[in-house]
Amino acid sequence: MPRKPLIAANWKMHKTSAEVRSFMSAVWPKVSDITDREMLICPPFPYIPLVDELRKSTSILLGAQNLYFEEKGAFTGEVSPPMLKDLGCEYVIIGHSERRGIFGESDELINSKMHAVIKCGIIPVLCVGERKEEREKNLTEQIILKQLEKNLKDLPETAFEKMVIAYEPIWAIGTGLNASTKDAHDAIALIREFIHSKYGDNSAQKTRILYGGSVKPENMKSYMDQEGIDGALVGGASLDPDSYSKLVKY
Ligand code: PEP
Repeated sequence: MPRKPLIAANWKMHKTSAEVRSFMSAVWPKVSDITDREMLICPPFPYIPLVDELRKSTSILLGAQNLYFEEKGAFTGEVSPPMLKDLGCEYVIIGHSERRGIFGESDELINSKMHAVIKCGIIPVLCVGERKEEREKNLTEQIILKQLEKNLKDLPETAFEKMVIAYEPIWAIGTGLNASTKDAHDAIALIREFIHSKYGDNSAQKTRILYGGSVKPENMKSYMDQEGIDGALVGGASLDPDSYSKLVKY
C-alpha cells in the first residue's frame, strides 16, 4: 500500500482561542475535497480540546507537540500519554529540535517518550536532524544515525506499523534556509535504510518520513516530487489557513 502523504502543522507556542477558531473555520472549506493526503494539526496543549471540537466532521488529525513519558504522578507542569489519548490526540511530536535545544532533552529521554507513546497507542512524529556546525563538519549522516539508534532503541517492530519520522535540519527551522531537495532526499533515504536494516522491509515501507525546515507553499512540491519524501512537518507556514491549505494542495 502506498504511503499517504502527511502534512503536519506544528503551531508551536502560537495562537489564541479566537485565532484557533478562525483558522479552523477558514481552512476546512479550502481542503475538504482532499482525500489522498492526511492533515495533522498540533496546537499548543491548551487548545487541543478546542481543535478536537472544531475538527469534528472533518478528516483533520489531531496531535500534541510534546509529552512526558510517565503515566501520572508528581511531575509538575507535565502532560502524560494517557492524558493526550483522553483528549483525542492521535499523534505527538517527539524530540523536536526546540525541545532538544532549549529544554535540554536528551536522546535517552526521547527514547523513553517513544516507548511511552507506542505503549499508549499514540503515533509518534520523531524529529531528527543536524545542527549547522555539524553539517559544516560533514557530520550530518553520523548525527542522524546516532539519533535514530538512541531514540528508537529497543522499540518493537510493531511500532513501525504507523511510525512517522521527520528529518528536520536544525539550521533550516524557522530560518528561511530550507535544505536542498537533494539533501532532504538523501537524508530521508538514509533514515529509511536505517529502518530497513534494523527493523526489516515491512517497517521501512510503512514508516512515513517527512521533511521539515522552512517549507512554504512555493517549495512544497519540489520536496514532494522526491522519491521517498512522504510529507512535511511545517511550523511558520502552517499558521495561516491559506498558506496551510496551499501546502496540503501542493
Ligand atoms: C518546525 O517547527 O518543525 C519547522 C519545520 O518550522 P518551520 O517550518 O517554521 O521552519
